[in-house]
Amino acid sequence: MDMNDKLHAVLREKFGFDEFRGVQESLLESLMAGESSLSVMSTGTGKSLCYQLPTFLMDGLTLVVSPLIALMQDQKKAAKQLGLKAGFINSSLSSADRKKAYQDLADNKYNFLLVTPERFRKTPFLQALQKNKVSLLAIDEAHCISQWGHDFRPDYSRLGEIKKELGDPLTVALTATATPKVQNDIRDQLDIKESASFIDKVQRPELHLNVDDVFGLDEKIQKIVMYNHAYQGPSIVYFALVSTLEKVSYELRKLGMEHLVYHGQMSPDRRKKVQNEFISSDDKMILATPAFGLGVNKANIRKVIHAEVPGSLEAYFQEVGRAGRDGEPAQCILLFDKDDISIHMDFIKWSSPDPHFIKSVYHLINDNELQYQQQGADYLREKLNFYNRKDFRVETAIRLLERWDCLLPDKVKKHIPIQPPDEEYLSEDHHKMKIKSLNEKLLQMYQWCEVDSCRSQMIHNYFGESTDVCNTCDVCLQGEGNNE
Ligand code: ADP
Repeated sequence: MDMNDKLHAVLREKFGFDEFRGVQESLLESLMAGESSLSVMSTGTGKSLCYQLPTFLMDGLTLVVSPLIALMQDQKKAAKQLGLKAGFINSSLSSADRKKAYQDLADNKYNFLLVTPERFRKTPFLQALQKNKVSLLAIDEAHCISQWGHDFRPDYSRLGEIKKELGDPLTVALTATATPKVQNDIRDQLDIKESASFIDKVQRPELHLNVDDVFGLDEKIQKIVMYNHAYQGPSIVYFALVSTLEKVSYELRKLGMEHLVYHGQMSPDRRKKVQNEFISSDDKMILATPAFGLGVNKANIRKVIHAEVPGSLEAYFQEVGRAGRDGEPAQCILLFDKDDISIHMDFIKWSSPDPHFIKSVYHLINDNELQYQQQGADYLREKLNFYNRKDFRVETAIRLLERWDCLLPDKVKKHIPIQPPDEEYLSEDHHKMKIKSLNEKLLQMYQWCEVDSCRSQMIHNYFGESTDVCNTCDVCLQGEGNNE
């Protein structure tokens, strides 16, 4: 049996599918030929199969790195149902369960293990992992590796080093959204050849993209009510700020409009419950922050409304991409108030503290260990005159210092200072470039809202693809943008 026959045999026997989808087959062939590979596939097309399937054909461990703790339980369950010896280790486990998982890992009881990138900081994990041969390293949500991506996670940027420490295993990087620049960055950091990239053309003709200009919250609420009546079926209304979400929720309740609510300030249990309620419903509306939707595989979402403009076209396209997975038409409506752009200008400032600030945070922790130990980030906020709770520069600086190994996370003391940050990390130029890149993304989002040609075409161009006009977005329908 040649490799292609073997891949098809596993697809049939273990997964019960007759055919591969999109780029799955070429990606798997590349991996089985020993080439580390990158794949960009739209959400819901079957990324998980690309690292589950090879596990059946290899000895050793498939180590899956993902930032999404909330999904790991379900991913483990799905892998177990396929017959894999699956487990996960993350901060949600009790210390007893974690110990047991480390022991199981050391005893080679897994061939499929899900972890967050932070796990590689823990010595007991690394010790247990050493007893295994990692035959496939799978990096899910790989765009998080890139500083130029819309969702950079400092811990993801260590994965290149981690890969080397693991002895350079075969690697597969997967993401649903990556511009050509981000794809390059993923390949550079994980040492993947350009020829081993498998980019699925993201064709979503069922998504009807619309921008509706509004002014102020009252008009937004009126429009949400109006669109809710106009288009039936399950819907998501996205907000950038929890405070706006709560105001809108309050007003909709007053109007007697039932809905669910989901945001990061709710407990994980409550969030899970709300998510399940939404998944099993045929008509519910959910007001949510962007955290909602990752890994939610609901086929019949009929509309996604953005009540506040997202910070980039990547974020926008990922969020609207949750609608219409069944291939039936879905309405995507962005309620565009120009004033909302300033929310993201603040976000950009807060997510990119300047080098001088990061240095001050390090020295404050180092010089005032006792106070920091007692009061945590509040102490730093007070010292730095940072009273705006929404401004999370202090927390961002702490995360960066952790990533650079300047602070070691510690349960009791919060952090142990180890060494001041290197000048290389604190480069002013780098900081400026990062801010510039985020501002550019925001500007492109803004330009998209104002564009007078096909909206869908502009998004595809942004992701490095060419496509025809969609004939379904508001601009095409107004007949202005049809440049055919
Ligand atoms: P994502 O790309 O968002 O990670 P998943 O891996 O969760 O998506 O897959 C989405 C769905 O597609 C799953 O129900 C999976 O079983 C199904 N799927 C994956 N590959 C195939 C295939 N080749 N044929 C049919 N269904 C598939």
